[in-house]
Amino acid sequence: MSIILPGSTVGFLGGGQLGRMAAMAARTMGYDVHVLDPDPHCPAGPLASQVITAPWADAEAAARLAQGCDVVTIEIEQIPLNSLEAVERLVPLRPAPSVLWIVQDRARQKEWLRGHGFPVGPFAVVRTADEATSAVRTLGASIIKATHGGYDGRGQARVTSADAAAAAWEGIGAPVCVAEQFLTLTAELSVMVARSPSGEMRAYPPARNHHTQGVLTWSVIPGGFDDAVVERATEIACGIAEQLGVVGLIAVELFLLEDNALCVNELAPRPHNTYHHSERACITSQFEQLVRAVCGLPLGETEVVRPAAIYNLLGELWTGPHAPNIAGVLGLPGVRVHLYGKREARPGRKMGHLSACGDSSDIALDRVVDAYRRLSISTAGA
Ligand code: ADP
Ligand code: MG
Repeated sequence: MSIILPGSTVGFLGGGQLGRMAAMAARTMGYDVHVLDPDPHCPAGPLASQVITAPWADAEAAARLAQGCDVVTIEIEQIPLNSLEAVERLVPLRPAPSVLWIVQDRARQKEWLRGHGFPVGPFAVVRTADEATSAVRTLGASIIKATHGGYDGRGQARVTSADAAAAAWEGIGAPVCVAEQFLTLTAELSVMVARSPSGEMRAYPPARNHHTQGVLTWSVIPGGFDDAVVERATEIACGIAEQLGVVGLIAVELFLLEDNALCVNELAPRPHNTYHHSERACITSQFEQLVRAVCGLPLGETEVVRPAAIYNLLGELWTGPHAPNIAGVLGLPGVRVHLYGKREARPGRKMGHLSACGDSSDIALDRVVDAYRRLSISTAGA
């Protein structure tokens, strides 16, 4: 299996914050970086020696990206198959189009998981308001999710009774949705797995994640789960990575239910918001690991050397009357600020994150929560 050595060029389909952080890791290791993104001011732009500005569906632009690169990876899975195949005809695309095709459609992804024996909650694929109504009648309280394009809880509606399903269906306005039974969650966790072209795999310890209205608020590693939960979650995540044949990274989002049962929520074959703390906590960050995996280098150790937590910074922090008190939190022990260089703050938009280390996961989490609270306190007059 040929190795793509430093000095070569890694291409990124997608130049958002995930691409930016992965591009930084590639640069650190001595790779050149090219990026394709619809936004000429995308966060990864400053790291790239070449930025191609084009829509995802522009297969000719995707081919142009590939022409300048030795390997191409992705930071967003919602890229039309034509563009993915245009890349793959020229250079390795890691993960492969076949993996992205399964993952990018929520219904196909859930059916693949169920068909391969991985645990998922009860769900139904719905194509009309009537189908949505009857699905909710069967499932009870549900979340209806568009099969394409949703992220950070967008393209989703929660319904508690069948009477509300038709209006929720209309509100989402997508041609196909998945209705999922609303589960009682004891906790949320994720497992990041890296897999190289030779099939070598490394899993990170599970992270514990907290969402507010469908958006990740904080994440901490190690997650502090029972050994049995860690073992089962890791087994599920590695099984998925192997059976999908992922090369690169795959994050498996899991729900912990009553009785310690686990079920898979969704898959993301790329760096993931719930492993941003790996930059501080682990021997190898998820971003360096992505570069190693797609270049066919030995994978790095995933062990946690120091517990760490992150807290997301959303656009509303900047659109309010006072700027966030960045200087005020940098004096706190163990705390760092990571900003993505986005020009425009919009409510709900991920602008950056805070991170904190500590002697235990609880300490790291307390520190980052405290830092967030102080960050959002007015700095007027300071
Ligand atoms: P996204 O693609 O936007 O991340 P998810 O499907 O992961 O959407 O849902 C976002 C969050 O909403 C989850 O992390 C969880 O907190 C909550 N959620 C999603 N599906 C369910 C469910 N079936 N039962 C309970 N909570 C859910
Ligand atoms: Mg999710």
